[in-house]
Amino acid sequence: MSVKQNLENIRGKIKSTCEKVNRNESDITIIAVTKYVSNDRAKEAISAGVTHLGENRDEGFREKWATIQEAATWHFIGTLQTRKVKNIINEIDYIHSLDRLSLAKEINNRANSEVKCFVQVNVSQEDSKHGLNPNDVLTFMKDLHSYPNIKVVGLMTMAPFTDDEAIIRECFRSLKKLQLDVQALNLTYAPCTELSMGMSNDYTIAIEEGATFIRIGSALVGEDS
Ligand SMILES: *Cc1c(COP(=O)(O)O)cnc(C)c1O
Repeated sequence: MSVKQNLENIRGKIKSTCEKVNRNESDITIIAVTKYVSNDRAKEAISAGVTHLGENRDEGFREKWATIQEAATWHFIGTLQTRKVKNIINEIDYIHSLDRLSLAKEINNRANSEVKCFVQVNVSQEDSKHGLNPNDVLTFMKDLHSYPNIKVVGLMTMAPFTDDEAIIRECFRSLKKLQLDVQALNLTYAPCTELSMGMSNDYTIAIEEGATFIRIGSALVGEDS
């Protein structure tokens, strides 16, 4: 299917989900995750009307960025090694994987201006996943005051790999609760108004639970979806 058809499908589901839970469609931003697809397929997404693209590796990001540049708003959604920060920092618009102070320090030192970051939380506490333990998030937020180039726009998580919708929903719901706790800290550098959660298989649940950025790869740009 063309990206355009996939996008229409997804927008339809976003619309019906928003109606169901009384949310506004315009509060949901679709990030097309292009990590497994060609430059041409990424450009097809832009032509179809997608304006936000996500990549999870610095090489992949640089390759796509070289051809698409300002035509998209760019999201880095993968684990970010500290030594790779310099390869992306002054082109990327959002980083979704801030999960340690050493990374905050490097971002702060390398960035020419404020960088919009999501703090990644390992809500499900699976060993395989990166992100902060939920219990450490509030302390981490306070510690970020030393890094003026970091702005925490929101929290990000990945749901566990399971078909059990209740478990997925509980994960997203916990992230929403944590967001409210962060907001209650009233930190000027951490307004935390956004929630980055939901992928191809679970974005409707994520929207029901408050997602504002959904990260969709296979269902949107997958070559054979
Ligand atoms: C790959 C990836 C996605 C998109 O996954 P799909 O299941 O293909 O939609 C979203 N978020 C992160 C962090 C990813 O690495």
